[in-house]
Amino acid sequence: TPALHIENLTKTYKNGFVALKGIDLNVQPGEFYALLGPNGAGKSTTISIIASLVNKSGGRVSIFGHDIDTDLYAAKCCLGLVPQEFNFNVFEPVGEILVNQAGYYGIPRREAWNRAERWLKKLELWDKRKEIARNLSGGMKRRLMIARALVHEPKLLILDEPTAGVDIEVRRTMWDFLREINQAGVTIILTTHYLEEAESLCRKIGIIDHGQIIENTSMKALLAKL
Ligand code: ADP
Ligand code: ADP
Repeated sequence: TPALHIENLTKTYKNGFVALKGIDLNVQPGEFYALLGPNGAGKSTTISIIASLVNKSGGRVSIFGHDIDTDLYAAKCCLGLVPQEFNFNVFEPVGEILVNQAGYYGIPRREAWNRAERWLKKLELWDKRKEIARNLSGGMKRRLMIARALVHEPKLLILDEPTAGVDIEVRRTMWDFLREINQAGVTIILTTHYLEEAESLCRKIGIIDHGQIIENTSMKALLAKL
């Protein structure tokens, strides 16, 4: 079973705008996959549909064999999402944000704290566990988003433009961290409009433009063509 299977995915927004025109995509377990495309291509729409934050108009999506239409809870348990914008309660302490997120997946509080500790330490946020999110720096908030997405230990991690607007130092640290968890077995998909980011991290790449996948290949093959 693929980590992600997308078949003929379409999306027409309420205002009539056709954002996705029949996307087909398969990402295999263990892959580090880049979805590259210019602004407005449909990357965020695709990700939002995979995470069931936006309804699709047509087509099928399944995550490790779990169809999001018929088996949503199981699908969600396999998925960690790092959205582009901070969407946590900024008045909540960092530790609580993680423990509450784990709670959505039915993880008991005690176990949730163990996991929160593990991920906060890995992401160098443990010292900040009692701090409210508002008091974190931009780089720390990014790391908190990643920790939150991993607290239920999903098999697939999807990141929407993870390094948009961060400085080179933070970007490098984040790349190293993502490589490490990919090597530990987590399938990763990220969207980006930087070829450099995709090139540095990913072996497989899909290029999306105007709501269509126009290329789906290995990074090596793509670079040979350029
Ligand atoms: P990307 O992430 O590749 O920049 P998006 O998926 O955010 O692209 O957007 C794809 C297209 O859909 C853009 O033209 C955008 O303006 C449009 N779009 C996004 N959200 C909505 C919405 N809620 N209603 C109408 N159009 C939208
Ligand atoms: P609701 O839609 O009622 O807020 P969710 O469980 O879908 O409940 O989402 C709770 C919060 O977690 C939201 O802020 C959402 O953006 C975020 N979220 C949803 N799914 C995931 C996921 N798979 N991984 C990480 N965060 C998620």
